Amino acid sequence: MDCTKVKETLFLFFDDEMDQTDQGQFESHLAHCPQCARRASYTQQLLIVFRRSCGRQVAPTALRLRIVTSLRLRRGGQTLH
Ligand SMILES: [Zn+2]
Repeated sequence: MDCTKVKETLFLFFDDEMDQTDQGQFESHLAHCPQCARRASYTQQLLIVFRRSCGRQVAPTALRLRIVTSLRLRRGGQTLH
C-alpha cells in the first residue's frame, strides 16, 4: 500500500469498513511512514470531533455519505416537500 492508497482509504479505516488484508497493509504503512501516520491521527481527531458534534449520529461517515448520495439520486431532481 502506498501513500495515495492510504489517503484514499483513511475514512474506511476509521469507520471499520476496511477488510482485514487492507487493514494490515494500512497499519504497517503507518508504522514506517511518519507523514501518513500524522495524517491518520489528524483525521481521527477530526472524526472524533465530528461525531461528538453530531450527537445522535450512529451511522459511520462513509455509510451516511452513501445514503445521502442515493437519496439524492432517487429524488431525481424532483421536489418532494
Ligand atoms: Zn505514506
